[in-house]
Amino acid sequence: MSTVKEFSVEEKLSSLVKLQKIESKMDEIQVLKGELPMEVRDLEDEIQGLNSRQTRIEEEINGIQEFINQKKNAIKDAEALVKKYEKQSENVKNSREFEAINKEIEMQQLEVKLAEKHIKDANEEIAEKVQHLEKARKNISNKESVLKNKKDELEKIIAANEKEEKHFEKMADDARQHVDERLLFSYDRIRKNYRNGLAVVPVERDACGGCFYAIPPQKQSEIRQRKKVIVCENCGRILIDEDLANAVEIK
Ligand SMILES: [Zn+2]
Repeated sequence: MSTVKEFSVEEKLSSLVKLQKIESKMDEIQVLKGELPMEVRDLEDEIQGLNSRQTRIEEEINGIQEFINQKKNAIKDAEALVKKYEKQSENVKNSREFEAINKEIEMQQLEVKLAEKHIKDANEEIAEKVQHLEKARKNISNKESVLKNKKDELEKIIAANEKEEKHFEKMADDARQHVDERLLFSYDRIRKNYRNGLAVVPVERDACGGCFYAIPPQKQSEIRQRKKVIVCENCGRILIDEDLANAVEIK
């Protein structure tokens, strides 16, 4: 003979409410954990993208700086040439030679002016890039502090819930022992069908607590009697009275 204890409907319903509450708590933990790792991953990706952007701007600035140095050297060369031509002009033999040297000098002076203009433009470009760089750095540091908070939060949740989860798992196992298989099967099936994971709901304000479908008074009184398992006609969830729902507490 089987030694399995027969439970009254009321006991089964009460255990089912308990199971529902425990598993809803476990769902909450999963939701918390389920979103944070994703948020952390997204932030890490974003920061990586921002970092490569920062590197790119720095490289661009270095490139422009190099260009400026080239132009500065070009100015030095041109100025040296001007000095050389000026010295030459002291020993010219005729006006044609003098004009030719003067033309060279003018050309080199033009080179200097042009290089100076390039340097000025390049410096403006650098100033603009530096601003972008600062913005990018600020953005990165903001994201990094958000990331740090999320990571801390996640670690805390993981640490805090390890114990709680084990505790709930044990409680859930225990609660399952007090419900018959057929009812458990329905419970699990209904739970899986709904995103909020609610399979057992109280009647609230004359309606199903799961789908808000109106429950007639006669049915409500049957539910209150706890003599049989009654499901919502509309959503199929197991209905219980509010007192039973409130009587079960999860610690
Ligand atoms: Zn319903």
